[in-house]
Amino acid sequence: MVATDIAGRDVHEPAVLEAMRRVPREEFVPIAYLGEAHDDRPLPIGHGQTISQPYIVASMVDLSGLSARPRESNRALEIGTGSGYGAAVLSELSAQVTSIERHADIAASAASTLSRLGYDGVEVVVGDGTLGHLENAPYDAIIVTAAGPRVPPPLLTQLTDGGCLVMPIGKRDGAQSLVVHTRHGDQTVQRRHGAVRFVPLIGEQGFLS
Ligand code: SAM
Repeated sequence: MVATDIAGRDVHEPAVLEAMRRVPREEFVPIAYLGEAHDDRPLPIGHGQTISQPYIVASMVDLSGLSARPRESNRALEIGTGSGYGAAVLSELSAQVTSIERHADIAASAASTLSRLGYDGVEVVVGDGTLGHLENAPYDAIIVTAAGPRVPPPLLTQLTDGGCLVMPIGKRDGAQSLVVHTRHGDQTVQRRHGAVRFVPLIGEQGFLS
């Protein structure tokens, strides 16, 4: 998948397209799927989980608003590290990226790939991402890469004023849509985007199992 294919759809922000160009997706997919690394679709990474579709990664990063601010001062939180690919794309636009993964072996593999490729600004944390990560908060952008029944309240409190949370909301195995919450002081404004299909967000503030 090349950035021009993504631009042909509805992601036009040059910094986001450049980030998509720079991150080598083939480094994040299992060897068995190397030949499909540049296809615009999710691929299996073990534990029934997936590396997300490139277009969806670009779209979520675009909606996060990170590209409108200087990379040096940006802090991002990703819930659902998976392969580490999304964290690498975020890292192109954000000096500090915290990425949380509930499966320790998936997290270890992603951390190793990110370190090998020189993504030193990414910290991978093992845990329940529905609670966020207070130690590195607040975040200018929070991207949740698994679908939950609602926005986990702890995540909204870890956003900066003006920060955005992008997340798929909906049924575990049914209709889901992408929502963007922008924080304005104690309020958040919600916008709803298109239909999506994600693996479930499992945790205290997500689906319970
Ligand atoms: N961003 C990833 C990538 O680029 O490869 C794709 C992530 S995959 C679609 C969703 C991930 O969310 C899975 O690895 C899953 O284990 C993880 N996950 C689900 N619930 C979680 C939770 N409560 N906390 C942290 N990770 C979670």
